[in-house]
Amino acid sequence: MPLERLSMNLATVREQWTFEEAVAGCEEAGIATIAPWRDQLKHCGIGRAKRLISDYGMSISGLCRGGSFPYTGARERQAAIDDNLRGIEEAAEIGAGCLVLVCGGLPGGSRNIANARGQIAELISEVLPEARSAGIPLGIEPLHPMYAADRSCVNTLAQANDLCDSLGEGLGVIIDLYHVWWDPNLRAEIARAGEANRILGLHLCDWLVPTRDLVHDRGMMGDGIIDIPLVRGWVDRAGYEGACEVEIFSALNWWRRPAAEVLEVAKQRFVSAC
Ligand code: ZN
Repeated sequence: MPLERLSMNLATVREQWTFEEAVAGCEEAGIATIAPWRDQLKHCGIGRAKRLISDYGMSISGLCRGGSFPYTGARERQAAIDDNLRGIEEAAEIGAGCLVLVCGGLPGGSRNIANARGQIAELISEVLPEARSAGIPLGIEPLHPMYAADRSCVNTLAQANDLCDSLGEGLGVIIDLYHVWWDPNLRAEIARAGEANRILGLHLCDWLVPTRDLVHDRGMMGDGIIDIPLVRGWVDRAGYEGACEVEIFSALNWWRRPAAEVLEVAKQRFVSAC
């Protein structure tokens, strides 16, 4: 894939670089689009982060992340709403293309996944008017089913598409290959998302065999078993022309290497393996 479409998700270098260092490092590497995380912005200070983004001329493909909707009581419900409204504000402040939603798993002690899924739809619809008026689309990112208990009960692109269909304008989907590569309906659901013009992002990494850690052992593109060019072709044909984020959580490998080296390898693989 041409390098111009690369966005560096800053989780990829989160252990090595602060937000400020990451912005400078990406510029140095010729990368002009990034996707920061809210804790990185908070640590830097949002006003200062905003100035850095503008000084370095960075585009922001998406802000990670909102979500964590399921709740057990009124206080938790309100806290989830408030946090997502803040996320929308922060996304608007830094000019992000969208706010990525990791929708949340089962609330404490619950065994009722259907209820948690209902709460996700309920709270998305609650914050959606604010997202619409801020001009920040909400990107529902389905997560691999191994995270259904603790991170997200939205586990397939079909579920994410269904939520978009039922809740309407201002919502879209994020296709993260790590989470959806295994899905037999992936091709059809990508086409469905494309028809509705709701693909807000493509997140790239690879699935390693064996995977030694369920969260922090993602592979660099080309090092695992995902047929990335195949899926990328489906996403292309669905009409998506936006940024493609390299997003690699790798406590066992890439977070241990110098960040500048990680960016160089990511750039090479973006061109040769995606
Ligand atoms: Zn992702």
